[in-house]
Amino acid sequence: MAKLTRRGFAVGAIATGLAAQEKKREITSASVPDDPIAPSVSEGTIADRVPFPFGKPIEFQRQDVAPKVRPFAMTQVRLLPGVFQKAQEANRGFVFAQTPDRLLHVFRLNAGIGSTAEALGGWEKPDCELRGHFVGHYLSACALSYASTGDKELKARGEYLVAELAKCQQRLQGGYLSAFPTEYFDRLGARKEVWAPFYTVHKIMAGLLDMYQYCGDTQALTVLQGMADWADKWSGALSEARMQMALDTEFGGIAETLYSLTVVTGDERYAKVGDRFTKKRFVNPLAVRRDELRGLHVNTHIPQVIAAARRYEISDDQCFRDVAEYFWQTVTETRTYVTGGTSNNEGWLVGPNQLAAELKLGHATNECCCSYNMLKLTRKLYEWSGDVRLFDYYERALLNHRLGTINGDGQTQYYLGVAPGSWRAFGTKYDSFWCCTGTGTEEYAKLNDSIYFHDERGIFVNLFIASELNWNERKFKLRQETRFPDEAGTTLAVDAEEPVSMTLRVRIPGWVAGSASVKINGKPSEVSAAPGSYLAITRTWVKGDRVEIGLPMALHTEGMADDHSLRAVLYGPLVLAGKLGKEGLTQDLEIGPEGPQLDKAPKVQVPEFAAEKKELDEWIKPGDKELTFETSGQKKDVALEPFYKVSGERYSLYWRVTS
Ligand SMILES: [Zn+2]
Repeated sequence: MAKLTRRGFAVGAIATGLAAQEKKREITSASVPDDPIAPSVSEGTIADRVPFPFGKPIEFQRQDVAPKVRPFAMTQVRLLPGVFQKAQEANRGFVFAQTPDRLLHVFRLNAGIGSTAEALGGWEKPDCELRGHFVGHYLSACALSYASTGDKELKARGEYLVAELAKCQQRLQGGYLSAFPTEYFDRLGARKEVWAPFYTVHKIMAGLLDMYQYCGDTQALTVLQGMADWADKWSGALSEARMQMALDTEFGGIAETLYSLTVVTGDERYAKVGDRFTKKRFVNPLAVRRDELRGLHVNTHIPQVIAAARRYEISDDQCFRDVAEYFWQTVTETRTYVTGGTSNNEGWLVGPNQLAAELKLGHATNECCCSYNMLKLTRKLYEWSGDVRLFDYYERALLNHRLGTINGDGQTQYYLGVAPGSWRAFGTKYDSFWCCTGTGTEEYAKLNDSIYFHDERGIFVNLFIASELNWNERKFKLRQETRFPDEAGTTLAVDAEEPVSMTLRVRIPGWVAGSASVKINGKPSEVSAAPGSYLAITRTWVKGDRVEIGLPMALHTEGMADDHSLRAVLYGPLVLAGKLGKEGLTQDLEIGPEGPQLDKAPKVQVPEFAAEKKELDEWIKPGDKELTFETSGQKKDVALEPFYKVSGERYSLYWRVTS
């Protein structure tokens, strides 16, 4: 099967499937007048789907839902030295390396303002149909970096970009703002080939919203409202049926930004515009708990679910919550590789629980944007429920997908290879600017955002990341000292001006082997909690209190649902990668490509393990260094290390394990 890039996927979908679907849908809409966007015959009979949760025009009514648990503001949490802070700083270096005038070049050209700056390459090239998208991410990265580190220089850089973008918007008559002409939207409306104009515009809108929310930049809000007004006009001019057809082209999470704009401004008109971006053919099956994701482009759709989640939060409409919760469940339980990532060749190529089969269909697995967006969705679901188990997934994806996908220069990955013999390929400084470069600059600018949450009773500690929390309102500081995941546990040190009574709830992960150990001020404590629950300690905390938590890790394996003998090895939360050497790797294969180009490197022999009936510690032994392991007694033994540490080398994550 030919490798499909994002562009290839979109164009291929238009060329093959969508035109035919449109034709069918027009016929269907004539025969079912009260459901003009009913699914086509090829997508199942109407009788199968009654009632359509989203069959009728959607009506928006503002009704905010109070979250069960709330995150702390990013300004209240600071990372301390450790692997996460290292990733944050590498990203900050990459963000600093970009210059505003080069970023603005394509916007200025499109607005008829001269620019002599050197054009950027990759997806920001002046002839790329997605140009300008990275600038939206960049605004978010500046805003998030300011919130998470207090970096005033990046705040100022974001403000400069906003001011210059505002000039471009003025030249373009005050509403529309993009680095490409409105002709792209003419093509979108006419169902002619075009890449993803609303996707691109959404990134800019989201960046402006972040600049307003995290940096207080009111000009950013004004520019954003102009863009939203323009989107209102464009989408309002289309019939619902025509708009639904336009939604077959990737449009990102624009509705999420529009819903948030309603919250920020109090103007419900924006939420109603957001509702027009509800792709009914996608959400209807999800709302009735049906996985019809096969064949869909993954990262086109996860942001739509985040938008549905945001819609629920401001309307209390259960249908939207159902969509978000069922989607999360089916993707994380049936379509997620051991790394916490999903997608292959950017799509869901098979039905649920068929990942071994999917892996035979392509090796461009785990687009990084997908993990970025799944983490974002997980965090929302957690705010609604406070369900500790959501963080087992969050941690899995964070440690095994996100932590390793940035290198020391701040370059990030596009596809994270799962196929045997893969290696890590990173982008370049000025010639990549992929979608994943964009979400990457945001990801590593907000690594402090989901460690701690709170409710009226106290604090939740969900992630074990060296950091400091300052709960100003309660005059309470908590310092988390840990080398996790290199260290199997964490220490929480209290710093309070005056004694504070509250409950500290520490997540005891589902992977803990046996039971967690707890010491309070050096003495073993009686409090306990089973893996997959919170350890709750209620007391009057005083300055100097220390809680030491031990989280024992052990070896375990996970098999593919459709091929149990194809297994991955884990140690606690860490996926272990088998190191297969550097054969065939060159600089060109490691820097620049979107993923591991397995056809350009010699095939490596991936050993099989004869061990099914043995205990794991009989054939996987600790290595010389911390967290290293080696197989023992196999035909060919392999060294294993936490996947996030393996780079510049070929690896395997899945092994054929036979008896
Ligand atoms: Zn991407």
